[in-house]
Amino acid sequence: MRAKLKHFLRKMRDTKRRQAEEALREVAVKYRIVADNTYNWEFWLSPAQSFIYTSPSCLRISGHGAEEFNADPGLLLSIIHPDDRQLWTDHRHDTTQTKALCELEFRIVRPDGDIRWLHHVCLPVFDDNGNHLGTRGSFLDITARKQAEEKNLRLAVMVESSDDAIVGKTLDGIITSWNRGAEKILGYSEDEVLGKPITTLIPPENVDEELLIHERLRHGEHIEHFETVRRRKDGQVIHMSFSYSPIRDAQGRVVAVSTIGRDITERKEMEQMKDEMISAVSHEMRTPLTALLGYTEFMLDNEVPADQQREYLQIILHESERLNELIGNFLDLQRLKSRKETFTWRPLPLQPLLEETVALFTRVSERHQIILDCPSDLPRICGDYRQLRQVFNHLVSNAVKYSPKGGAVSVAARREKDSVVITVRDEGIGISPQDLERIFERFYRVNNTARRVFGGTGLGLALVREIVTAHGGKVWVESALDRGSTFFVSLPVA
Ligand code: ADP
Repeated sequence: MRAKLKHFLRKMRDTKRRQAEEALREVAVKYRIVADNTYNWEFWLSPAQSFIYTSPSCLRISGHGAEEFNADPGLLLSIIHPDDRQLWTDHRHDTTQTKALCELEFRIVRPDGDIRWLHHVCLPVFDDNGNHLGTRGSFLDITARKQAEEKNLRLAVMVESSDDAIVGKTLDGIITSWNRGAEKILGYSEDEVLGKPITTLIPPENVDEELLIHERLRHGEHIEHFETVRRRKDGQVIHMSFSYSPIRDAQGRVVAVSTIGRDITERKEMEQMKDEMISAVSHEMRTPLTALLGYTEFMLDNEVPADQQREYLQIILHESERLNELIGNFLDLQRLKSRKETFTWRPLPLQPLLEETVALFTRVSERHQIILDCPSDLPRICGDYRQLRQVFNHLVSNAVKYSPKGGAVSVAARREKDSVVITVRDEGIGISPQDLERIFERFYRVNNTARRVFGGTGLGLALVREIVTAHGGKVWVESALDRGSTFFVSLPVA
């Protein structure tokens, strides 16, 4: 009876053990199925750092099979990109130290030479008594994300470093992105405009054209080189050329707008100036040309006595000289304006230059005393000798020309802080306050007919200002009618 009972109990125990083993096997199979079919590369690392389990997806990601990793504990480190190996070693150290979940991103090199970015996360596992059982971990291939990030980063750097204004907007014209170029051109910082309507920057009369453009963009149109105006933060209206592109979402719907804008104010001003120049020059040339034509035709068609012939020829000569001067000044100014004139910059002592000008006009006019007051220890300035000689020749020539009764013309130079200031003073007819503001404009000539007519082109002072500005200097004048004039030129010390 006892023996039977013993047999029965053993059978019971065996059945239970078998059932337990069966259940364990079932669990193991289930977990194995899960682990073997994960998309990520999963592993289980023993405390001695060898792989107990590696999921098959390691082959897709690394190009090496699970059995290779399980057989060779050093394989993983050897396929890590040399630049990232230290990262990995430090990470392994951190994981065992912190006993917490750790993450790392690093690169591996596949057998075909391909580089893949992996995101790694691992967790050291301990039993209830604190014994280290091993490390559970996984690798996720994040190459596509990294490449997209790098591309975005490159694009972001390009956008940020561009001199053009690159602006993102919603279809309703709300500003969503604003690069440094936009800040430079329009004066607003990113913080000041993000979330604001683009119409903030548009003069009221141009708002409609922007609305129409947005309508065209909504229909997927690209708009290139659209020239219009914008108002800067300081209120200045500038000319800009824009290219607009619709931005589409993954489904191809237009969801936003990107614009690239370039400041074309300088070009516009240049075009306008050229037009003005051409009309002004043709107008200015007409007077001497009419005289030339009139006198030559008259002399050809009529018997003109010899003394009168001489008088007419004098007029023809004078008008030809005027035309010549006009064209010369005009070309000089034009070259300077379009930056075609190349300057030869070098440190210059001003004394010889001013001496040359004074000597020239002393020979030209006997009625004027031309005085030079220039200390010999004056610091040098950096400039172009030929251009600066033109500046002082124009100023002294005007001083002589506009003081018909003669008198003193004094040229003086002195140092003032970081500049040298040259003054050209005369005792001539002077300039009225309303003319003072305009004499540096191209072709502006004071109407002197009431007192006396002086020949000229109205380009001399425009040229003077252009050259002085190109030297980083300033030119200005103080004058009163019949009390003489003083022209000042300040040039930075070299
Ligand atoms: P231009 O002498 O050929 O007319 P500028 O550009 O040199 O042209 O000068 C512009 C105008 O400024 C002159 O027409 C003249 O009326 C005035 N101006 C220039 N310099 C003097 C001066 N030293 N004294 C009085 N008026 C001057």
